[in-house]
Amino acid sequence: MNRERNRQYRQRIDGALATPKLQEALHKFADAYLISRQNAFAGLDFEALRRDIAAIKDQALQQRDALRQQFTRNAEAAGATVFYARTAAEANDYIARLAQERQVKLAIKSKSMASEEIHLNRALEKAGVAAVESDLGEWIIQLAGQRPSHMVMPAIHMFKEEVAILFSRVTGQAEPANIEHLVGVARQQLRQRYFEAGMGISGANLAVAETGGIALVTNEGNARLATTLPPIHVALVGVEKLVGTLEDAAKIIRVLPKNATGQLLTSYVTWIRGAVPCGEKDKELHIVLLDNGRSALAESPQCRDALRCIKCGACANVCPVYQTIGGHVFGHIYISAIGIILTAFFHGLDQAAELVRACIGCRSCVAVCPSHIDLENIILHLRQTLGEEEGIGAGKALVFRRVMRNRRLFHTLIRAASLLQKPVTRGERSIRHLPLFFSGLTEWRTLPAIASTPLRDQWRDIGQQVDKPGTKVAFFGGCANDFLYPELGADLVTVLNHFDVQVSYPEKQNCCGIPALYSGDRETAVELARQNVEAMLEGDPDYVVTTCPTCTLALCRDFVEHLKDNPAWAQKAEKLAAITMDVSGFIVKVLEGAEKLAGTAGGTVTYHDSCHLKRGAGVWQEPRALLQATGAELREMDHADRCCGFGGSYSFTSHPAIARNILGDKVNDILQSGAACVAMDCPGCLLQIRGGLEKEGHAVRAVHTIELLAEAIARAPRSGD
Ligand code: SF4
Ligand code: SF4
Repeated sequence: MNRERNRQYRQRIDGALATPKLQEALHKFADAYLISRQNAFAGLDFEALRRDIAAIKDQALQQRDALRQQFTRNAEAAGATVFYARTAAEANDYIARLAQERQVKLAIKSKSMASEEIHLNRALEKAGVAAVESDLGEWIIQLAGQRPSHMVMPAIHMFKEEVAILFSRVTGQAEPANIEHLVGVARQQLRQRYFEAGMGISGANLAVAETGGIALVTNEGNARLATTLPPIHVALVGVEKLVGTLEDAAKIIRVLPKNATGQLLTSYVTWIRGAVPCGEKDKELHIVLLDNGRSALAESPQCRDALRCIKCGACANVCPVYQTIGGHVFGHIYISAIGIILTAFFHGLDQAAELVRACIGCRSCVAVCPSHIDLENIILHLRQTLGEEEGIGAGKALVFRRVMRNRRLFHTLIRAASLLQKPVTRGERSIRHLPLFFSGLTEWRTLPAIASTPLRDQWRDIGQQVDKPGTKVAFFGGCANDFLYPELGADLVTVLNHFDVQVSYPEKQNCCGIPALYSGDRETAVELARQNVEAMLEGDPDYVVTTCPTCTLALCRDFVEHLKDNPAWAQKAEKLAAITMDVSGFIVKVLEGAEKLAGTAGGTVTYHDSCHLKRGAGVWQEPRALLQATGAELREMDHADRCCGFGGSYSFTSHPAIARNILGDKVNDILQSGAACVAMDCPGCLLQIRGGLEKEGHAVRAVHTIELLAEAIARAPRSGD
C-alpha cells in the first residue's frame, strides 16, 4: 500500500466529513431523487428495460470495430470528419491543432465529461484558445477552479451563496443568492459567447452507426446553441457510446433521464448528423471518437461490463459513501462506483487505489444501474488486483495467510482473546469502552464481547427436539455467530426444530473468506472456499442455512467463482451453492413457515434490510412476512435498505469515520419509525446497529429476526400440537 497516497486520501475524507452542509445537500438530493425515480418508472418493468440496455451494449461491444467503421463511413458520407483518438493526447492534439488552424480564439463547450477526462481545457489553453463551459453547473465549477463532483450535476456540492459570490466576481457587482436570479446572470453572461466562439465543443450521449449521427440529451438549451451557432462543431465521443441502430438509441434515451434525475422526459434530445448550413457556408463537424483505455477495458473479462454504462450518474445518487464524502473525494474525474472502474482504466489503477478501498460493498449501485452492471463485483476484482500489486499490508497478511487459513490456530487465538478481554468486559456482553489506542473503536458504538464459549463448543449441549425428522440442514455459522453471538445458533435450532428440521454444525467449517477477499487477498479466500466446501458437504445435507447474508453470498457466489477452474472443486462448489440459503428465505420458501407460525409476539418492530440479503440474495419480503406472522406490528423505516455502515474491517480499521456517519443516518431512520425494536438478518448489521443504539443510550432493541422467531415460538404451542 502506498502510505503517502493513503494519508492524503484520509485527509481529504476528514475534510469532507468536517463539512456537514455537503452531506446535508447530498442527502436532500438523494431523498428527493429516490421518490422522483420511483414515480418516473411507475408502471414500467425496470428489470426488463435494463436487460434490454445490457443486451444492446453487449452487442455493440462485441461488434465495436465494425460499428466504428460503419459509423465513420456514414458520418463522413453526411459531411462530417471522423478522427479516432487512441489516447487523450491524440484527442487533445487533434482538437487544439484544428482550433489553431482555424484561428479560433474562443471555444464554447457543452456536455462533455470526456473533455474533463482528457483535460481538454488545459490543452486548448496551451494552444491559446480560451474554453468557456456553457452548462450552468460546469460554468460554476469552471469559475470556482474545481472539477465536477457528479457526472450529471457537476456542481451539486455547491450552495447558492457560494455561486452568488462567484457570479459577483464576474459581473463586478453583488449578486443576491437567489437561484432564479443567478440563472438569469448566467444566461446573460454566456449569451454573447455563443456568437463570439469560433468553435463549439460537445460530447454525445450516443453515436448511431447506421446513420452516422450523434444524440445529445440535455436539460438546458445551451448544448443546441453551442453546437449550432459557431462555424465549427467538435463532438468528443467515447467509443463506448456507439450503438447499432436508432431503435437501440431510442431505448437508451427512454431510460436515461428517468434514472439520472428521476425525470419522465428530458427537455431536449438533439440529433446531429453531418454538416449543416451555417450562414453562407456549411458548418464543419468533427467527431473525435475517443478510446483512451476503453479497448483495454473491453479486453478485461472481469471488468468489461463497465462499458455498458450510459453515464446516468445514478450509482452516485444512491451510494452511501458518495453521500457522506461527496464526489471530490470519492472520485477522480469520474465519480462513485462507475468512476472507480473508469478511473482505473482511463487514468491508471494508482489513481483509483484509494477509491477502490473506500467502497463499502453495499451493492446499492448495482440495484439501480440501468445497464445491469455488477459494479460492486468489478470493484472487488480491482481490489484484488490492487492487493496482488501493492500487497494488503503486513498485519492483514499475517492475520489472513497465517492465522485464518489455519482453522485450529485461528480458533485458539480467538479463545485466548476471549480470556484477555475479561478486565474490559467485566462479565458484560457489550464493551462500552476500550482502553488506550483501542478507545477509538468504542467511541461511537459499543462492541460485543467475544463469547466465553464459541458456538462450535456449545453445539453438543444445545438440545434438539424434532418429532418427525425430515429435512437435514447443516448450519454455516460464520465467525460472528461462532464467536460473538453463539446464542443465535441456539435460537436457530429452536426455530428449525419447531418445523421438524434437525440441524447440524459441521465442525471443520471456517471463516467464509469475505474479510480476506474484501481486503484484496484472493489466495486466502480460495483456500477458505476449499475448506468450507469440504466441511459443509461432508454430512450430505439437504440444505445449508446461514444467519449471515455475507456468508450466503460467499457460499452461493464467491466459492463458485474461486473454484471454477478446477472441475472437481467446481462441481462441489456448485452443489453447495445450490443448497445454500439464508435462514429467512429457507423458512418461508422451503418450510412455508410464515403460514405455520402463530402470532404471539405483539409489539412494534421495524426492519433493516442488510445489503447482501436484499441486493445479494434477493431476500427482503420473507423476513417481513415472518415478523408479521409472529404478530408484530411492522413499521417501515425510511431508507430501510440503506447500508448501516458496518462493512467488516471497513468500520473497524479502514474507514471508521465514514462508517460512523452512515450509521448515524441509519439510527435516525430507526428512531423516526417509532418502533420499539429493529430486526435484521445479519450479525454484522446487528453489531453495528445495536452498538450505535446502545452507545447513544436509545431504548430501541436491536435483534436478529431469528431471535424474535425463537421468542415467539417459545411462547406458542408447537406446530401440530
Ligand atoms: S457498492 Fe455501495 S459503497 Fe460501493 S460504490 Fe456501490 S453504492 Fe457505493
Ligand atoms: S454505472 Fe450504471 S448507474 Fe452508474 S452511471 Fe453508468 S449506467 Fe448509470
